[in-house]
Parts: sequence; C-alpha cells; structure tokens
Amino acid sequence: MDRCGFCGKKTAPGESFCSQACQDRYGRAIKRDTAKTGWFLAGILLGIGVLFAGVFSQRDPLMGGGLLLLGATVVLLPLATPETVVLLGWRRARLLARVLGLALLGMGVWTGWF
Ligand SMILES: [Zn+2]
Repeated sequence: MDRCGFCGKKTAPGESFCSQACQDRYGRAIKRDTAKTGWFLAGILLGIGVLFAGVFSQRDPLMGGGLLLLGATVVLLPLATPETVVLLGWRRARLLARVLGLALLGMGVWTGWF
C-alpha cells in the first residue's frame, strides 16, 4: 500500500506523496527535524542517564525526573523515525511521538511523586 510520506493519505501506486504541496512540506519538515536531532539525542541521553541514576540509587524522584526529561524532549522535539513515517506518514508519526511523550510525562510524575 502506498501512502503519502507527509499526511499519510493513500496515493497512486508508485507515488510517495499525494501532492506536490505535501512533498514540499515533507522536505522542509525533514530538514528542520534533522537540524534538531542533536538536541533530541542530548535530551534522550540525559533523560536515560538520570533515569538509570534514579534506578540504581533507588530514588523515585530522580527516576521520575528522568522520565519527565525524556517525555519533555519527545513532546518538544517530536522527531518521527523513518519507520513510523513510512507506516503512518510524517504528520501522524509526529502526533504519535507527542502522545508517547505525554505518556512518559505522566509516568514520570506518577513514578516520582505518588
Ligand atoms: Zn499528502
């Protein structure tokens, strides 16, 4: 099944995008995302570092803080992975990333302070 790489709508067989407008927006979005990848990775690595520090020292607020950091990074910089883009289209992949980020934030608060 062929889907538009940006909006996820079905396309004519062999076409990667449903329209020129989608193709243009996709190109710009990917460029923007690529520029932010460094920040994204830094946020994720820091979040995982804090999370593990919390796990090893058995401090719940530290674990919660790590999860919050991960969640905030994903919500602020919802970089869609190539796999989810192929599956869902860029726009939906980004929405999914945001939802997962919010779930992480919820988990972080719950782990750290309840
Ligand atoms: Zn489209």
